[in-house]
Amino acid sequence: MKKKPAVVRGCTFCGTCVFECPEDAVFMDSGGAHIDQEKCSACGICFRNCASEAISYISENTTDNSQNC
Ligand code: SF4
Ligand code: SF4
Repeated sequence: MKKKPAVVRGCTFCGTCVFECPEDAVFMDSGGAHIDQEKCSACGICFRNCASEAISYISENTTDNSQNC
């Protein structure tokens, strides 16, 4: 089953994932960073570069954009 990253815990609003995502798939709101699963290509850049380990890979059919940090 294909998996994509999602921000699941402990986002510190550092903004690294927003700036580094090549697909412009990450956006920030008052709850922290969120990943647009439609835009995300699952390249893993945000997952590798999040210093807070806030991003995890999850099954596509178990998430949506409402997940909070
Ligand atoms: S998910 Fe990680 S890299 Fe993205 S803003 Fe939050 S702490 Fe920073
Ligand atoms: S896995 Fe890649 S495309 Fe998907 S949100 Fe992270 S940096 Fe963007």
